[in-house]
Amino acid sequence: MVISFPPKLSLAQTPTPFHCLQRLSQKLKGPRIWIKRDDLTHAAMSGNKLRKLEYIVAQAIQDGCQALITCGGVQSNHCRATAVLCAQMGLKCHLILRGEKPTDVDGNTLLAHLCGAEITYLDKVAYQQNLAQVFADVVQKYEQAGLKAHCIPTGASNEIGLWGYYSAAKELLDDFARAQICPELICCATGSGGTHAGLALGLYHRHYAGVVRGYAVCDNETYFKRKAAEDIAAWYQKYATNQNHDIPPIDVCDEFIGPGYGIATPEIFAMIREVAELEGVLLDPVYTGKAFYGLLQQIKRGEISKAGDVVFVHTGGIFGLFPYRSKLSVG
Ligand SMILES: *Cc1c(COP(=O)(O)O)cnc(C)c1O
Repeated sequence: MVISFPPKLSLAQTPTPFHCLQRLSQKLKGPRIWIKRDDLTHAAMSGNKLRKLEYIVAQAIQDGCQALITCGGVQSNHCRATAVLCAQMGLKCHLILRGEKPTDVDGNTLLAHLCGAEITYLDKVAYQQNLAQVFADVVQKYEQAGLKAHCIPTGASNEIGLWGYYSAAKELLDDFARAQICPELICCATGSGGTHAGLALGLYHRHYAGVVRGYAVCDNETYFKRKAAEDIAAWYQKYATNQNHDIPPIDVCDEFIGPGYGIATPEIFAMIREVAELEGVLLDPVYTGKAFYGLLQQIKRGEISKAGDVVFVHTGGIFGLFPYRSKLSVG
């Protein structure tokens, strides 16, 4: 297959570290759990979204855009990363956030504010019904100011954003070679689907034989399989010439969403504390905490072999911890 590579900014600090969680693995009596530290892609822009934004924003700049518009929940890591990136690149930023305007600006939203992002808050109903119109209005506002704006979809998950984890797949395989392991499972949290789909496609094209699993934090297996198939089809259409356009297996586990997006049970908070104390690794209650909990449950139930190596891709989310301080209170 001949692939044409898109433009890319160089903002993430890669390769990110890759290491074994030795104490936790021992405590569980195997398998060895390895962690890909994409929570360390950058301090302020930390997490998985930066890898996707490197491609999406490079394309937007090449197209002559001076403003970026995107959307997400009030504590969206993606929106925060976009806001910081815009400030760093001298671009305007407008965020459309789902939820009430908080009385106390906190966590991700605090950082987005600090970096000068303009924010429109929409309640859940308005967000569901009017999002496209609000995007169009903001585009027009910039147009009237003589600025070309680019709209980034939720979580930067589209065929351009897919490149972020398509490329990270190579980095992971290099990590495995250095550590001399052949993991049978690579997993991550899945929210808008682009991280999982990119990894699955990148690993498939490089003939990785294991399972690539996404633990859903919202929506179900059917949704994520369709979303991955659509984004991958659009990716082939745009970047690949000739040959077959195979969709890799998309293994989604939607069993550990719990009460809903952004709502975590006491078991999740307890596990976040345990992993922080045991390994110095900080998980968040919205994404990585639920995914890692799912992985540990499947290990404990014997659904994952205790003999091999498994890899968890830590996708970030540290700033999302702060608004949950009351659920995490210690002592
Ligand atoms: C957005 C996000 C995810 C999910 O990634 P998608 O590509 O949207 O599926 C996982 N973890 C964290 C911390 C995130 O911010």
